[in-house]
Amino acid sequence: MDKLANKDDLIVVTGGGGFIGGHLVARLRNMGFQRLRSVDVKPFDQWFQKFPEVDNRQLDLQEKEACYEACNGAAYVFNLAADMGGIGFIEMNKAACMLSVLINTHMLLAARDSGVKRYLYTSSACVYAHDKQTDVHNPGLKESDAYPAQPEDGYGWEKLFSERMCRHFTEDYGLQTRVVRFHNVYGPYGCWDGGREKAPAAMCRKVIKGWLANDHRMEIWGDGEQTRSFMYVDDCVDGTLRIMTSDLTEPINLGSEQMVTINELVDIIENIAGVKMQRSYNLNAPKGVRGRNSENTMIRAKLGWEPSIRLEEGLKPTFEWIKGEIVAGRQSLHGG
Ligand code: NAD
Repeated sequence: MDKLANKDDLIVVTGGGGFIGGHLVARLRNMGFQRLRSVDVKPFDQWFQKFPEVDNRQLDLQEKEACYEACNGAAYVFNLAADMGGIGFIEMNKAACMLSVLINTHMLLAARDSGVKRYLYTSSACVYAHDKQTDVHNPGLKESDAYPAQPEDGYGWEKLFSERMCRHFTEDYGLQTRVVRFHNVYGPYGCWDGGREKAPAAMCRKVIKGWLANDHRMEIWGDGEQTRSFMYVDDCVDGTLRIMTSDLTEPINLGSEQMVTINELVDIIENIAGVKMQRSYNLNAPKGVRGRNSENTMIRAKLGWEPSIRLEEGLKPTFEWIKGEIVAGRQSLHGG
């Protein structure tokens, strides 16, 4: 980001009260950027991270006027705001997920009209075609696997549509856009309970609560053999900044290639906790696709970099943070 922006350029992060947005604001602040604006619809007391010297604003970015307020004077915009959650949430809230299209539509219009120099949109691995994800031995999803379009219903369609809107705002209006497809991200300061949490946080919570209650039973959604890759949030922030700074105008994967089964994810968390759980499998629960992994040929070729933090490492601080929250009796803060 140092190559792109001056320290006094105004940088806007939407979804700044959320998990990844909070980490991004923290990183930009640590890099010395003086003028940061963090925007989220949630009341301030529900933000995961909030910094007093940042221009924090509570705005509903589905509203057009709010997007113009958010973009006013901005040089760079990272648009992370979305109504989202783990598979349980996105399968049960397809319309709500699709309404996030209002955020990107209005943010793009506001960015275009406010003279924003560069705009980054956070898409998702949920744009990838269902037929490419039916086998646990997924060879990795290449960027071209998004077409012919057959994305995750609701959430994935919204992401794919918004990706294309970014492309056409570049072609037709000259707005510089970058599109990054995150694969599952995990880490501290994110949702871990209440229905929007994703698998790593949910599994940490179940193990911690079982250990605290001395009740080692644990439910897993599906048969536990479905595969995924998980990226630690520090790698996610690094990659997002690198992609923003790059000349990459096409959507690009940002994910880990360390594919594991959900059972292997639980094995790692059990090792960190030093407990063995009695697992039961709920085959009727939402499971998502059968196998998903990131394919990082493009990011290696274009950036000479890819996420490298091993799941065994990244889960340690994640587990400790969630444990601290639970032991302190705090509730998980929700997105959206
Ligand atoms: P998050 O839910 O923690 O953060 C999103 C934030 O957007 C929330 O704080 C929410 O309040 C805010 N938001 C929702 N509607 C809004 C509105 N109308 N106006 C203003 N703010 C609004 O989620 P996250 O994990 O930090 O995800 C950030 C982005 O990355 C999202 O666009 C998400 O779709 C994408 N993504 C995340 C993952 C992941 O594994 N976490 C994977 C793929 C893509």
